[in-house]
Amino acid sequence: MAEIRVRLESLSRHYGKLRALDAVDLEIRAGEWLAVMGPSGSGKSTLVNLLGALDRPTAGRVWVDGVEISALAESDRVRFRREKVGIIFQQFHLLPYLDALENVMVAQHYHSMADAREAMEALVRVGMADRARHLPSQLSGGEQQRVCVARALINRPRLVLADEPTGNLDAENEDRVLELLRSLHAEGHTLVTVTHAPKVGNLADRRVELRHGRLSDLTVPSEEIERRYDEVLVQMWALIEDGRKPESRRIKVPDVVDNRRTLLGMVESGLIVASGPILEFTRRGRAEARDLVRRRRLAEVLFSSALRVPEAEMEDVACRMEHIIDPEVTASICSFLGHPRKCPHGRAIPSGNCCQLPIIS
Ligand SMILES: [Zn+2]
Ligand SMILES: [Zn+2]
Repeated sequence: MAEIRVRLESLSRHYGKLRALDAVDLEIRAGEWLAVMGPSGSGKSTLVNLLGALDRPTAGRVWVDGVEISALAESDRVRFRREKVGIIFQQFHLLPYLDALENVMVAQHYHSMADAREAMEALVRVGMADRARHLPSQLSGGEQQRVCVARALINRPRLVLADEPTGNLDAENEDRVLELLRSLHAEGHTLVTVTHAPKVGNLADRRVELRHGRLSDLTVPSEEIERRYDEVLVQMWALIEDGRKPESRRIKVPDVVDNRRTLLGMVESGLIVASGPILEFTRRGRAEARDLVRRRRLAEVLFSSALRVPEAEMEDVACRMEHIIDPEVTASICSFLGHPRKCPHGRAIPSGNCCQLPIIS
């Protein structure tokens, strides 16, 4: 297991009677992406400020990389911020009279280096090279946020903190910023994003929820994980059926932004193997996919022929129904329908044992 990069021990931050954080314990492993979820005013920003040594706790301790930052003198806290953390805020905090490149270079100056080329590379990385000479007022919200990401990365921080990083952005810019966070994670940065947006939370390795100053683990319910696995199996089956390679990028699970975690879970559960971007069924995975496809397509036949569900609604109803059609009753439904070979869309229905029984006339 990876080393612990951040440790909070009974951490509290009170403002008078308000307990923004109340005896919070937490460990974050090196390279982990942790999402702290919770409504605004739940203490999320307080947590970011404490992790970034921008604030001091009322009680308790914070370690980053084995250093107890809550015990550092002011000058050491400044050095810690320079060397170890990059912070991406919801409010951009760009200096209005400096252009994008200069804003990144100000951050360099803060880290006592001044290298226009390196600052430019950081802007290239966030796709802002052609806007380097624009003032913040000439940039859209999304562009300003990308400059902030470039600025936060200039010291190659071991810990990246992002406070509602997509808070004010439109969908397209949100995707670009999430893509940046994703590549930071892939490079091994330890990432803490504080957000109320499920889309951002879904990308993380682990989600915790902050409410009334207390933390609790959020886990994806197992039926939901099951549903995602089933969806991937069915999509892989259909891709192979169409003579296409089941590549991970072709699989789209509804409500999931990044299916990597789902696929990883499926590899761990022995349903699929991944060789590079190409997915393959294991023997068990193929059997489950076949069974799912069979049930889903039988449900389609059932709805279209026997129950006369309009075609537009059929697919939706059928894929919800496949879970309701118990494996036990699949054979009787198949028999009832006369062992159909094709679904209403013309796709083959994998046969079951019932279909192979000799028909006695
Ligand atoms: Zn069909
Ligand atoms: Zn049958």
